[in-house]
Amino acid sequence: MAKLSQITELKGVGPKLAEQLHKLQIRSLADLFFHLPFRYEDRSQITPIGGLQPMRPAVIQGEVRGATVLFGKRRSLLVKLQDHSGVISLRFYHFSAAQKNQFSTGATIRCYGEPRRGASGLELYHPEYTRLEDGLDLPLEPSLTPVYPATDGISQQRLRLLHEQALELLKADQVDLTDLLPVTWLQQWQLPTLKDALLFLHTPPRETNLALLESGQHPAQKRLILEELLAHQLSLHKLRAQVQADEAPAIHSDKTLQRALLQQLPFTPTGAQQRVVNEIEQDLTQPYPMLRLVQGDVGSGKTLVAALAACDLLQAGFQVALMAPTEILAEQHLNNLSGWFEPLGIKLGWLAGKVKGKARERSLAEIASAEAQLVVGTHALFQDDVHFARLGLIIIDEQHRFGVHQRLSLREKGVAQKLSPHQLIMTATPIPRTLAMSAYADLDTSVIDELPPGRSPITTVAITDQRRPEVIERVNSACAEGAQAYWVCTLIEESEALQCQAAENTAQELTAALPHLRIGLVHGRMKAVEKADIMARFKAHELDLLVATTVIEVGVDVPNASLMIIENPERLGLAQLHQLRGRVGRGSAKSHCVLLYKSPLSFTSKQRLQVMRDSQDGFYIAEQDLQIRGPGELLGTRQTGLQMLRVADLQRDGDLLPQVRDMAQQLWTLHPQTVEPLIQRWLGDAERFANV
Ligand code: ADP
Ligand code: MG
Repeated sequence: MAKLSQITELKGVGPKLAEQLHKLQIRSLADLFFHLPFRYEDRSQITPIGGLQPMRPAVIQGEVRGATVLFGKRRSLLVKLQDHSGVISLRFYHFSAAQKNQFSTGATIRCYGEPRRGASGLELYHPEYTRLEDGLDLPLEPSLTPVYPATDGISQQRLRLLHEQALELLKADQVDLTDLLPVTWLQQWQLPTLKDALLFLHTPPRETNLALLESGQHPAQKRLILEELLAHQLSLHKLRAQVQADEAPAIHSDKTLQRALLQQLPFTPTGAQQRVVNEIEQDLTQPYPMLRLVQGDVGSGKTLVAALAACDLLQAGFQVALMAPTEILAEQHLNNLSGWFEPLGIKLGWLAGKVKGKARERSLAEIASAEAQLVVGTHALFQDDVHFARLGLIIIDEQHRFGVHQRLSLREKGVAQKLSPHQLIMTATPIPRTLAMSAYADLDTSVIDELPPGRSPITTVAITDQRRPEVIERVNSACAEGAQAYWVCTLIEESEALQCQAAENTAQELTAALPHLRIGLVHGRMKAVEKADIMARFKAHELDLLVATTVIEVGVDVPNASLMIIENPERLGLAQLHQLRGRVGRGSAKSHCVLLYKSPLSFTSKQRLQVMRDSQDGFYIAEQDLQIRGPGELLGTRQTGLQMLRVADLQRDGDLLPQVRDMAQQLWTLHPQTVEPLIQRWLGDAERFANV
């Protein structure tokens, strides 16, 4: 007999219900099984009334000792229920006359609810209840009752019945559901089979330790968690394998261009920069694309690393593309790199969203003819109509804004469908190790773990905005002594318009309060040339104070700036604050950062600002951010696919990741036939979607 696999093969599932189930991402029977309860209720035993605990839901059974309607602030029905151990009140705010009549004195009632402290001691508010007719008994549930994530149109009851039906089929081995983990693993790690794990989790026996289940520590859960994390890991392996199946230019450089570049710089690379460049060069010698992530804290000098890597490709006659997430950052790179490369006879190209018409045509032509050798831009670089003649290396700055899959699709930009470009991704958002392990499993990682010499520590203070005048005065005196300062205005992300308005207002306010200072303003709605002009003037110290929105978050580099005021820091993530703050402390002067918060602060906000005051270490800050906010927010959604985890929780299960990584490696080499089914099972549509 053919085994069942589709949800529509269950009794009672027609097109309408099937469609509603799709909304819960349930299409196959397997999906139904993996739609796991998010909590359980214990309706398997009757708790004596005298033994009830506040907030612990329970089944009780007793005799009605009276039912009265109370007319207080709100009319309510109060029913006294008694068993051998005590009395409790049931309270109903919505009730009908018929309901009241059911609670006749002496009637036997069984109910389920959560006891709370009320006016008359413990009370049950609106419990579910049944009246037991004389001599009749109601069976109790044989196991703990699962509570499923539900949606409009599908009740708990409906889901439970569907699961019951499906589980019966599973027990009878009539469902097409293969255990994809090697049997030896189950023994080695003492994990249940897939079938046993699912049967258990949908109907845990009544003696199950609920606390263990709720903390996600039960072996049945662990089995599924491992399997899910494994599937994610494998999907990244697969993407990596796809990219690395392509051919890329193998580069063996004699470093002539690198030497020429370094000769004109007023500094030499740090040990960490040199080490990372060596790692990159090792990759470049391979005939398949490099996929390398360079993590380096703010100011660690990632641009130089990128430039040195670019040298090798440029010298071999290939084009290099450098993509930044914002126009302002891209411009900054363009300025920097022009200064470094033009004297060496390298021609730069430029492409951003705002480059239009003739200028755009010219850019595209230069890119297509390889006249532009080092092309800098925003994601506009990767639109369909951009054709590189000989693209050998893509460098992506500040990777956290680009999606994994988006990134991997860039390989099509290579050399005439023959060679794919190498990929170098640089991020200043340090990613906690555990997260990096799962989110970037497809990348090799290098870390620039050393700052260039001569940096001075930044002192950070948090000050309530009631002391704003003092802070303004502080800006005044700092600038009077020759320093430069940033004043960063933040507002809720969604409204760029409001954010720019706030910055304009603040600039006016500060101009009025500090008439002797030269004050500039940059925000996202200004024209690129205006922004570039203001930035250039700030850099040249023709401005003392720069009022800005978070557009200056990344990459802006003005060593003489040593004071930063951040308004409403409580609205930003720690990683973003760390980025912002990294704009100061770049010169030799002692630097300060003032977090000008709006009081009162929530507990979490206080904790987070405290982290900023305590530390300047991007990795420590990221770990703390992870603790306080959870992985979803930290990585941003969409970008990793990890937000789609069904049973695993990166924060709770992060310690499993090293094991998962080993498992993925083993499976990939020893059991390759299970890789695809596992990915399909857990990522299914998600993977297809992400690959588009
Ligand atoms: P980030 O890693 O934040 O992108 P940048 O590449 O912008 O850092 O570098 C920050 C500043 O440090 C720049 O002014 C850059 O020229 C300078 N810099 C980079 N490497 C060194 C070095 N080895 N020694 C001194 N200064 C350096
Ligand atoms: Mg940078």
